[in-house]
Amino acid sequence: MPVDLHNHSSFSPDSRTPMEEIVEEACIKGLKVVGISDHDDLDTSFPYSYRLRDLEGYLKNLSRLKENSSVKILSGLEVGLQSCARIPPEGDFDYFIYSVHGIPGTRDLDIGNVWTLYLEESIEAISEIKGPGFFGHIDFLRRYIPEHRPLDNETLLNELLNRLIRNGIGIEINTSGWRHPYREPSPQKWIIERYLSLGGRLITIGSDSHRRADVGSYIGDAVLLLREIGIKEIFYCEKMNYTPFRIDNC
Ligand SMILES: [Zn+2]
Ligand SMILES: [Zn+2]
Repeated sequence: MPVDLHNHSSFSPDSRTPMEEIVEEACIKGLKVVGISDHDDLDTSFPYSYRLRDLEGYLKNLSRLKENSSVKILSGLEVGLQSCARIPPEGDFDYFIYSVHGIPGTRDLDIGNVWTLYLEESIEAISEIKGPGFFGHIDFLRRYIPEHRPLDNETLLNELLNRLIRNGIGIEINTSGWRHPYREPSPQKWIIERYLSLGGRLITIGSDSHRRADVGSYIGDAVLLLREIGIKEIFYCEKMNYTPFRIDNC
């Protein structure tokens, strides 16, 4: 298996998996590249916003792990952006995953225009951010919207994707959707195809694991899906530089 750039360790408040176990599991599953990307939600006014525990200790632990590892380990961070909070922390990171985890002032997701509000917030949150980096799970709210109603505002989706492409930010195929009842990647296949048709090419893959067993889960399925739509290489970032990784013969 190639890469899994989205894994949460015990430095995230919602995971209890030590980083060492993520790396062990990545080796067992045959991953070539594993990224640790703990939460750092910049706007803490949301009920479930997760700040990174101990930035300095986090980066130190990662650089220690990198020293003696047979798998390539990358120091990432899942930066939770909102329109009112969009400056990532400074530090020796390899990459950022930029995610929008909520709509300000909207707790009830059972509303008709939920995707419009979410996409407007995402466009605003990402507007000043420049790559490298990857936008996480574009249709994230699907996990929580009643009946997992899929994203439905194509005009704003196009605007978001165009903005990401202009700003040099890639997208993530988050495989956790396959572990949810709707059993699809996040985003859905047609959204990946739309991103490509608009000129995007910087795609990465992440499991969004919060426990050891999910490290690398459904990464193989994501590779098959991407190959099916003609993609020959995906990307990861090392020292904030995009690096291609071929998937047509792995
Ligand atoms: Zn997330
Ligand atoms: Zn995550």
